[in-house]
Amino acid sequence: MLYNNLSGYLRERYGKRLKKICVDGGFTCPNRDGRCGVGGCIYCGERGAGEHINNTLSITEQVRRGLEGGTEDDGFIVYFQNFTNTYAHVSILKQRYSAALIDSRIKVLAIGTRPDCIDEGVVRLIRSYMDRVDVWVELGLQTSSDRTAGIINRGYNTDVFTRAATLLSEYGIPFVVHMIIGLPGESYLDIDDTVEVINSVYPSGVKIHGMYVMRGTVLAEMYERGEYTPLTLDEYVTLAARAITRLRPNIVLHRITGDCPKGLLVAPEWSADKNRVIALINEKLTEWGARQGSLTEGVFPWDTVE
Ligand code: SF4
Repeated sequence: MLYNNLSGYLRERYGKRLKKICVDGGFTCPNRDGRCGVGGCIYCGERGAGEHINNTLSITEQVRRGLEGGTEDDGFIVYFQNFTNTYAHVSILKQRYSAALIDSRIKVLAIGTRPDCIDEGVVRLIRSYMDRVDVWVELGLQTSSDRTAGIINRGYNTDVFTRAATLLSEYGIPFVVHMIIGLPGESYLDIDDTVEVINSVYPSGVKIHGMYVMRGTVLAEMYERGEYTPLTLDEYVTLAARAITRLRPNIVLHRITGDCPKGLLVAPEWSADKNRVIALINEKLTEWGARQGSLTEGVFPWDTVE
């Protein structure tokens, strides 16, 4: 096995793959409403991810539609995806999460958020759901470099991430860290540092995204002005494979590439073919004789990117 992937983990834990129901919980983001910033991260679209979700429906209705057509044997992950899903008073969070848990086939409540919106009250609430379902908190880190964080207008420093991750660990709440490969101005050394910071907080999972340019974003304007050049396919494949060899072997990789919502991709074109990207990363690891965490065992054949 080249890496610990999500479908393998799900089969082991639940005896099957789970279907994902993405939910727009009606939240916003402190990096958009002025609490810590305006305009948001430079790659963030109008919907704060989850562009395909019908947000005119209530949370319960979104989940009900996601369950439609499922059999009694199916299992589901409900993923609060758009914007910052812990950015509200705890009583509102409770109402919205509870509105989603309407069926015993829902095995996982996944909550996407920013580390600066995690505090003790939020963590206690999330912990309380763990009697009913498994819970994952998905924390957007993207990079450990505060310099890059400034360029992408992330709106918090990396020590905020470390504190949030530590708090979640103290409460025994599994969390999944998102990182992006191909951020403006980053070298492979920045990516190494990001991986090191991620390893240091012992997440249960990681999502690796490739940076793509989506229509209507600040990054798209930078791209048009020639201020941002996306990675080539080969660069991405090499950098993603390198990151995988440096991540702890027990971390579950939920993703190793990302794809832009249909119709909104500006560049790079190759990022639209997710299966091809994954196949090439697998090939690269095989060519190196490497696998997830193999660097930690002292086997690392990297010598191609300056
Ligand atoms: S934290 Fe997420 S929702 Fe908020 S601006 Fe950044 S990418 Fe968008």
